[in-house]
Amino acid sequence: MDNNKFVEVKNLRKVYDNGHEAIKNVSFSVKKGDLVCLLGPSGCGKTTILNMLAGLLNPTSGEILFDGKSVVNVEPKDRHIGYVFQNYALYPHMTVLQNVMFPLIVGKNKKSKAEAEKVAQKYMELTQITELADQKPGNLSGGQQQRVAIARALVQEPKILLMDEPLSNLDARLRLKIREEIRALVKSVGITTLFVTHDQEEALSIGDKIILFNDGIIQQDDLGQNFYLEPNNYFVANFVGNPVIDNFKVTKTENELKANDFTIQLADLKQARFKRELPDGEYTLSVRPENVVLAPDGFLHATVDDIELIGRERVLKFTYDNVQARSLIDLEVPIKHGDQVNLTMKLDRVFLFTPDGERVY
Ligand code: ATP
Repeated sequence: MDNNKFVEVKNLRKVYDNGHEAIKNVSFSVKKGDLVCLLGPSGCGKTTILNMLAGLLNPTSGEILFDGKSVVNVEPKDRHIGYVFQNYALYPHMTVLQNVMFPLIVGKNKKSKAEAEKVAQKYMELTQITELADQKPGNLSGGQQQRVAIARALVQEPKILLMDEPLSNLDARLRLKIREEIRALVKSVGITTLFVTHDQEEALSIGDKIILFNDGIIQQDDLGQNFYLEPNNYFVANFVGNPVIDNFKVTKTENELKANDFTIQLADLKQARFKRELPDGEYTLSVRPENVVLAPDGFLHATVDDIELIGRERVLKFTYDNVQARSLIDLEVPIKHGDQVNLTMKLDRVFLFTPDGERVY
């Protein structure tokens, strides 16, 4: 038994009947007890993967192992999985208690009513819905319904919990609260969890690690901070980060990177960060807004288009080379729309990408 590979997916592919290849040769593993976020834009294949793990969908090829054993030919009900769906899928005619205990009173290992109630009570307490036991789902708020769905998924004490966008029907404030609760709950129960989301902030805040997908392919499988500091490619750098990263078109010559009205000497970059020898040509220089800073002698000359307040900082927006770019500035800095400013970049924090999106610096 290898706890680092409690869930293991190897060379997984899914081609739907219409010929669409939704998952293309995906491999990853999940450590026992970890909460891992599957992140990516709509249509990248997150739900397809979850459904293959749950056994609701057959892979076209590849392997899925739970605790070292292949489950590809195992029935969904025998996979020891709890699944929380996006729309909760509660039974509307049953009370909360009946919903939560339902999985325990059906199927071949069914418990007595008294036993089922006892286990249900335990998970209702953990999810803080004990007082709602006699209510019908229709009378509950979104957050309460979510808790019922989680209690129902946990009641069979599954080995693995799958959650598909579980917070997407909640308002912003409640989402923040419930995501903290979900993390605390899965950690206290100790259950290995795969959590699907398209929201990078949500993934960064709750994931022990994040697997970012695009177009059926893993773009990066890593700790949250590395998506900021060491993005694998242009897609990752642009998908993760709020405000989004700034991208500048540059031309590389023998000694310089030349943009529209600034030039960076290659000698000023850290040689050790170059991933390979670069041929001359077109590249994208990308830098996060927190690393584009106001400086009296800064080489980037910009006119402030707009200033947006985000909590204790502001985003200064400017247009460069017909593309919008951003710099994070403090609340106190006296700057307004239309001002001319000079900015500079922290050169040890910039990235360089080829036109294909490969990161080369
Ligand atoms: P979302 O966040 O919008 O739910 P997702 O990342 O979960 O997206 P999937 O639902 O896994 O994405 O879909 C991946 C791709 O496969 C999409 O292009 C989708 O249109 C396609 N797809 C999903 N189900 C089927 C199906 N039954 N037949 C054909 N194509 C499908």
